[in-house]
Parts: sequence; C-alpha cells; structure tokens
Amino acid sequence: MEIICPIDKQFSDQIAALLEPPSPHEVQKYFEELLATRQCRCLKVKPTAYHGKGVYAETDFKESDLVLKDQMLAGAQHSSNKVDCLVCSYCFCFIGSIELQIGRKLFLEQLGVSPNSESHMQKDCYNSGSSVGEDDSDVEDQQVSGKCASSPSKDKIPLPKDVVESLFNGEMQLPYSEKFPLPPIVSCPGGCKENYYCSKSCAEADWESFHSLLCTGEGSKSSSTKALLKFMEHANDTNDIFLLAAKVISFTILRHRNLKESRHEGKGKHVISESRDFSLLLEAWKPVSMGYKRRWWDCIALPDDVDGSDEASFRMQIKELAFTSLQLLKAAIFDEECKPLLSLEMYGHIIGMFELNNLDLVVESPVEDYFLYIDDLPLPGKEEAEQTTKPILDALGDDYSICCQGTAFFPLQSCMNHSCRPNAKAFKREEDRDGQATIIALQPIARGEEITISYIDEDLPFEERQALLADYGFRCRCSKCLEEA
Ligand SMILES: [Zn+2]
Ligand SMILES: [Zn+2]
Ligand SMILES: [Zn+2]
Repeated sequence: MEIICPIDKQFSDQIAALLEPPSPHEVQKYFEELLATRQCRCLKVKPTAYHGKGVYAETDFKESDLVLKDQMLAGAQHSSNKVDCLVCSYCFCFIGSIELQIGRKLFLEQLGVSPNSESHMQKDCYNSGSSVGEDDSDVEDQQVSGKCASSPSKDKIPLPKDVVESLFNGEMQLPYSEKFPLPPIVSCPGGCKENYYCSKSCAEADWESFHSLLCTGEGSKSSSTKALLKFMEHANDTNDIFLLAAKVISFTILRHRNLKESRHEGKGKHVISESRDFSLLLEAWKPVSMGYKRRWWDCIALPDDVDGSDEASFRMQIKELAFTSLQLLKAAIFDEECKPLLSLEMYGHIIGMFELNNLDLVVESPVEDYFLYIDDLPLPGKEEAEQTTKPILDALGDDYSICCQGTAFFPLQSCMNHSCRPNAKAFKREEDRDGQATIIALQPIARGEEITISYIDEDLPFEERQALLADYGFRCRCSKCLEEA
C-alpha cells in the first residue's frame, strides 16, 4: 500500500506548526488559566530541565492530601466495557437504575454480545504502554481476579429470560435499590442510539464539544453518517483508541468553527477573506497541543509475541491500520479549513499522545456498592433480601463489580513527570468515584517541590524499570535510578 503521497509545502508547514511543542511561556500561561478555572491555585506548571514541563507545589501538602482533581479534556469508555456498564457519554457516571444496569448486562449476554470480543490488535496495540493512574497494584490485582473484566461464563448460573427482561424493562424492583438512585437516562439530542446521558446539560455539553460531528443520528452534523458507522465499526474491530482520536479531532474542528464565528461577530462582515486564517486552527488546537506527542507507530511498545526481527513490519502494519481508520473518518467529517488536522501525521501523533499520556478512566460501579450493602444488612433483613438478590449475584458471577473503564486525556495530570520514588500517586478515595483523575500526596510535599507520580511499578529492578520507561520515550534520572545505576 502506498501511504505517502506528495503534499504541498504549505500543508506540511502547517502540520509542523501544529506539532511544534508550545513555548514555555505559552505552557505557563495556558495552565495558569486552566488552574484558575479549577479554583486551584496551589499548583504551577513550569518548564523543567529534563522533560519539558512539570507540576510544582505552590503550597505545602501533608501526606494523603488531595493534590489535584483533574478534569479530562477528552475521554471514552472502552468498546468492550459498554456491554457491562451503561454510563453517561460525557461525565461517565452510571445511569438508569441498579435493575437496569444488571438487566441490560445479562440481556446483552444472553443475546450473545460478548464483552470480551477484543481483537488481537486491540489487545496488543492498546494499553501496551501504561496503566498510570488508580492504585496500580490494585488495578493489576483487579484485572487478574477479573474484577474489572468479565469472567468466563462457566461459573455463572443463568437467570430465566423473563426475570432478566423484567429487570431490564423496570418491572422488577430489587430490595433496597432505592438507596442507590441513579440519574434517569437522557437520549442523544441528535437521535443516535450510541450515546446516553445523565442530564440535559451533559447531553448539550457533549453535543457542542464532541458529539455533533460524530453522532450517527438524524441530527448529526457529519457529512455522512454511513461513513461514520463504517469508521466506528472498524475502530471497534481493531482498536477503540481511534474513537478517542476522532473525538479530539471533532473537538478541534468544532472549536475552530466557534472561534471563526465569534471573530466574525466581533469584526463585522468584511473579514470573510480572513476566514482561512491558519492562526484560528492553531488556537483551536491549543488545548491538545499541550499534550506530549510522538507518532503512534514509532512510540508503541513492541508486544511480547512479536519477534524483534519483525519490528519494522509490525510498525508498518500499525501505520497502515491508522491510515485505513483515517480514510474512513475523513469520509465522515472532512473539513477543508481543518485539512492539516486530518493528515496521517497528525492522526498518528494524536493517537501517540494517548499512548504516552493516558490515564485509565475508571468509575466504580454502584452495582457493586448495592451488593456490598445487601451483604452488610443485619440478619433477618439480609436473609429476606438475599432470596431475591442471590440468584442475580449467581448469574453475574464475579462480574457484579465491573467498573466503567476507558481512556482519557487529563491535561494537568499529563504534565506530571515520572519518578521511581514518587511523592504523589493517582488514587481514588471513597469520595472520588467519578471519571476525574485524583492525585494524592504520598508524603509531605514542600512548597516549590516538583510533584511526581510513577508511570510504572516502581518496585521493579532498575533495568526493568528503564526498559518500561523507554516506551514513554525517556531514561529515568530520578534519585532512586541515580543511586542504583
Ligand atoms: Zn453526565
Ligand atoms: Zn448522537
Ligand atoms: Zn527512576
């Protein structure tokens, strides 16, 4: 397949300008504004000696203090997780009801929609680098024990179809489920059956920021919903990171349109000639420009089952996969004025950004809380409730506790550098059961100190740590590595 086609000089210059890392001054200014909107003046983003930029304490933190709650710029639930959890497509909170969550999952399972239908490419190419975030030891344990992934159906006892249906359609009410109310489901304003929301405000915010171009419903602003469906099908079959990349592109195109509109309003009608002003695209792209990027096919770690001698062909295969995905996406949302954004070079860098900066998006399940609550009930009540809940628990097996899982880009979190002796970590406390990134101090952090987290298991031996960190594109020079080198 011939991938590289001749592109004119201006076009490649524009791509280079978009990929140019922002200057230290721009970085500082952008994050100052971002921190101000989050009412968090106790942090500062500054250039560092080794890694471009870092996050510094502007106040003293005590051990286990909350350092930061970072809102995502863009995130997506994993395709494979959509069978297990119905969440708001914008804020990722669980929606509907406990009964609906359980009934829907069992219903889809009975229909044969497998949550584990991830392809080979998906397993190999995705999440290969990182599982920064959450308590890493916890996440690994959960994954091994199947806490956050569906377990094989053999240890489950299926429920009769009519019981599953009555859970799903709301006819059956579970004991004490009123203690775990979930927001009612709001449909997509564009009329697709893909996205659901917890509120009208989430539906509107998603529509304006991302979804209007990616909606497959009648109200979609995409040029071809048919093409969009093809793009989504390809992503679901190969690697759902493409869906997140599409969200970032849609976000930038929509921002570009808004900027253009507000400039027109500001200056009257005679500025039409200015409408092709490239600086508008640079401005629209700015939030995403803050993320560290490398080309996906260059930075992705070689999977264990790929021999070193096949590396070049493996990387070419990844590049071709991205090329195919991009062609499908372009057919759906092409925008002439944002043309450089839809180049393979940009697409590769956007996906690479998720590879290098991703934080797992995790939202704990209220279904798990519900069953824990039943288990903790005092005796006669517990026995009575369990007559209803026990068969449901048996049908769910270990899956009763599956959380919402996905990938998201958190702008501030992504500025935090790695240390094998970190002073903070991504960890969710009981009260942080949402889709935001939570960073907690592991030890006292003094004002002026850099805040560091560990991207890997910092207890691994020196050589293994360095090998893992090489996938992030750097050699670690933290105090622990300097001692052990
Ligand atoms: Zn929401
Ligand atoms: Zn929609
Ligand atoms: Zn280190």
